[in-house]
Parts: sequence; structure tokens; C-alpha cells
Amino acid sequence: MQELTDRQKAELHQALLDLHIELYTLLDDSSDGARPVSLDQPIGRLSRMDAMQQQSMVQANRRTAQTRLNRIEAALRRCKKDEYGLCVECEEDIGYARLKAQPEAPFCIDCQNKREASSG
Ligand SMILES: [Zn+2]
Repeated sequence: MQELTDRQKAELHQALLDLHIELYTLLDDSSDGARPVSLDQPIGRLSRMDAMQQQSMVQANRRTAQTRLNRIEAALRRCKKDEYGLCVECEEDIGYARLKAQPEAPFCIDCQNKREASSG
């Protein structure tokens, strides 16, 4: 796997910063969705049950966003230590294509597959 160029590193670092802000904002905003469902609000064809289901979806999304935010913060710390782009497991280059799709990826594709195989 090819080592990242400075330009690619800078690009991915910026992507991480953008994602960080995005998720931070999302977690801030969706606190509204976690409020108890109000019966006074016109919810159209949505039953109260549907509204509650939607609410638990919002909460699940928040958990996913929180997990991703943690990974992004870990990736930003690796940037500072100049370890970004290296697999935290085997220290091989993760590769630009993979990082472009998922800038916070802590593992190379091999280690990721091994982890998924062992956890499943
Ligand atoms: Zn690896």
C-alpha cells in the first residue's frame, strides 16, 4: 500500500475536521428529537407509536454518531502524532482510497476483515 503524500494527508485531515464539526452539530441538534413525544403536536398520519419508534431511531442514530465522533477524535490525535494513515493494529499504510471513503478508519482492510470475522 502506498504511503500518503503530504497533500493527501492535508486533504484527509481537513475531511476529519469537517466531519468532526458535522457530527458535533448533529449531536447538538438531535437533542430535540430525544424529547418526549408531544400529543398536542399535529403528527399527521403518524401514530404515537410511530413517533416513538422514530424517536428511538433518533437515539440509535445519536449513538452511531457518537461512536463515529470518538473515532474521528482518535484519528485527529493520530494526525498530531504523525501516525495518521497507519493501521493501529499492524502499522501498515491503510491506503488513500480507503481513507478517502472513511477518513477515521483506524485499521487497514486486512485487520478490519480479521476483526469482523472474529467478532462475528
Ligand atoms: Zn492492519
